[in-house]
Amino acid sequence: MLNEKMKALGQNRSKIRDLFEYGKILKQQGETVCDFTLGNPSVKTPDSVTQILIDGLKKSDVHAYTQAQGSAMARQKIASDLNKKGKTTFTENGIALTCGAAASLCGVFKAITSSRTDEIVVLSPFFPEYKVFIESCSSNFKSVEFDNDFSPSFSSLENAITKNTKALVINNPNNPSGKIYTVDEICKITEILNKKSKEFSHPIYLISDEPYREIVFGDAKLPFIPDFYKDTIICYSFSKSLSLPGERIGYIAIPSEISEFIDLYASILGSLRAFGYVCAPSLFQYLIENFNGEYSDFSIYENNLKTLLSTLKNLGFTCNEPKGAFYLMVKAPDGDSEKMSERAKELGLLIVPADSFGAKGWVRIATCVSKETVENSKPLFEKLAKVYNLI
Ligand code: PLP
Repeated sequence: MLNEKMKALGQNRSKIRDLFEYGKILKQQGETVCDFTLGNPSVKTPDSVTQILIDGLKKSDVHAYTQAQGSAMARQKIASDLNKKGKTTFTENGIALTCGAAASLCGVFKAITSSRTDEIVVLSPFFPEYKVFIESCSSNFKSVEFDNDFSPSFSSLENAITKNTKALVINNPNNPSGKIYTVDEICKITEILNKKSKEFSHPIYLISDEPYREIVFGDAKLPFIPDFYKDTIICYSFSKSLSLPGERIGYIAIPSEISEFIDLYASILGSLRAFGYVCAPSLFQYLIENFNGEYSDFSIYENNLKTLLSTLKNLGFTCNEPKGAFYLMVKAPDGDSEKMSERAKELGLLIVPADSFGAKGWVRIATCVSKETVENSKPLFEKLAKVYNLI
């Protein structure tokens, strides 16, 4: 007998991937297609990063196994970089290197849940894979509604947290909305978490999923979550910040001040071991050890966002105003995002219905594309606006 749940997961592919594969086939056939599906960075990896990788390849021992949790030097580097951001203390003994944020999240979910009644709560809108990861750890996925501007509904959050809640997941800046949760919002969230942790006499961890941490636009400021809540577990990835999504490198970080520090770190390492997620790619550990702080140039994403926002608004579409990450949300004029995505697809425009992100009636546009794709998409969005009689 096969594992039916896993079989279903393999068969029911994500809509985003299906659209992306469809776009790839069209492009191979020489068709013009404007693909806004995946969060695949178009901006190139910084030259300094490429140079470190080339130097690394020339080292005789770079392909060797490291410690299961990653080399001490890479972990020290990460801890020292995190310590520059805030007041909490990170050391190499609270860091584990992983194959990206997906592996970080899976490792953490498994480490902090042990019973079928355990729950992990996430703020909507959310990265749809959270549901897959949480349920694969035999835990219960619960989402919290959003209010205007994709702010969390605090009453919904308060109601969602029960004695079975092990953690809340926050993704800042957010995929798919590009929202940055403000200091005020973080304070309200942590106030609720503190109250509930006390009421239920166990820590409720705040899992901060941060693959877009560096992608912040204009004068927006990203709060450093461990400064607001000591029971924070950071899940990070270099996929977006260094344009390295296919290389699979990221980390889990817990501050020394966190509740049950020693046992929690042991559980995280145990969970990564159980998944077989040991020794993240060693060439990319070498990169972290030698990284000079130069990230990809995100100005292209910001420019794309500005162009798309003004194009879509002028055409009569309703959009949100992202402050970070590289996504833009557009409301389906008749509330049917699946139909909007289908109609756009017929025009050669690939955009993703965001219902599975917990944002019913919205579509997501990934703005991490080339300037050329944005320019080519303008007449297609105009045609789409005509389909909806907006112009
Ligand atoms: N979390 C969020 C919010 C994401 O958008 C993604 C990827 O797009 C991930 C986690 C997974 O990141 P990675 O590709 O580094 O595993």
